[in-house]
Amino acid sequence: MVQSMTNTDTADVEATTRQVAELAEAGSELVRITVNNDASAAAVPRIRDALDRRGIEVPLVGDFHFNGHKLLATHPACAEALGKLRINPGNVGKGRRRDEQFAQMIEIACRYDRPVRIGVNWGSLDQDLLAHMLDENQRRAQPRDLTLINREAVVESAIASAHRAEELGLPPERIVLSCKMSGVQDLIAVYRDLAERGDYALHLGLTEAGTGTKGIVASTAALSVLLQEGIGDTIRISLTPEPGGARTREVVVAQEILQTMGLRAFTPMVVACPGCGRTTSTYFQQLAEDIQQHLRRRMPEWKDRYPGVEEMQVAVMGCVVNGPGESRHANVGISLPGTGERPVAPVYVDGEKTVTLKGEHIAEEFQEIVEDYVERTYGQQDASA
Ligand code: SF4
Repeated sequence: MVQSMTNTDTADVEATTRQVAELAEAGSELVRITVNNDASAAAVPRIRDALDRRGIEVPLVGDFHFNGHKLLATHPACAEALGKLRINPGNVGKGRRRDEQFAQMIEIACRYDRPVRIGVNWGSLDQDLLAHMLDENQRRAQPRDLTLINREAVVESAIASAHRAEELGLPPERIVLSCKMSGVQDLIAVYRDLAERGDYALHLGLTEAGTGTKGIVASTAALSVLLQEGIGDTIRISLTPEPGGARTREVVVAQEILQTMGLRAFTPMVVACPGCGRTTSTYFQQLAEDIQQHLRRRMPEWKDRYPGVEEMQVAVMGCVVNGPGESRHANVGISLPGTGERPVAPVYVDGEKTVTLKGEHIAEEFQEIVEDYVERTYGQQDASA
């Protein structure tokens, strides 16, 4: 399942409700919100109500650190409104108080029958545990590489906390583990270890992945290796939004990773050639982008009306070299004219050339052809189902 997280002040009910709604509409199946003080804990049930009034059922995951035990105890309506609690065992207190405060949160999860994600984060690892493991390592005849000790400490913290939660009465199927690391190789090694050491559900994500293409590439590199091995139940792409950029980008990237790997389908995909010296116009690139945006915009409505439409493939190609071939393989494809070619654009539907577009309105006409195809193909399926 695809998860995301808001970056609004949770105490701001209106802004948080709006952003949760945007993330849910983009396809997020769980949305995590920070619950860091009384005002945000009091806001959670109001956010839930506002979402319910709009018919948005996406579960909210409460993100707790340091004072989570107090907030959950003093705001029972917050615990009730949340679909899941996220607890970071490195941030629940020190020494004996850590155990007590962790236990208080698990008891509340049991009382409200809520699952818990035990989310260890590389940047807030339990320092007592790490110090203990480093001491043990120093006493070895041949101390092991510190990178390996760090990785082991992260896994150990997650597994030990999960066992403790089970002892406190939380059923194992209500436990999700995550060990977020900022290095791709660290993340892969840690999750392989976690998957080998138990049957707990796992939440995948590369933390502090970064902005723009770097964040997307690093997350994709790490997650695709693990997903290919069957590891991972929920995923989040932790992108730092570019100034003015949409928070929903992280949802789109997560969906595209799953879809391009053939694991799940969310939105019809556009196959487009990269362009080259045979096409000097950027028209086809614009058309490919416009069509992809159009398909994404239409999905909230199409999802219910046209089951299976998310599997559709649309091709937008730049010239006759690969254009007709690739277009024939798609459900609907268009091959635009390259430099020096006749200014016509043959369209293929289910492998057959159906029409040749020309003139000023190729983009609009192609969009209509795609709309008709969806109605005819997936609407009929719906009627016969
Ligand atoms: S289909 Fe044509 S324009 Fe596109 S990359 Fe291939 S040769 Fe270049």
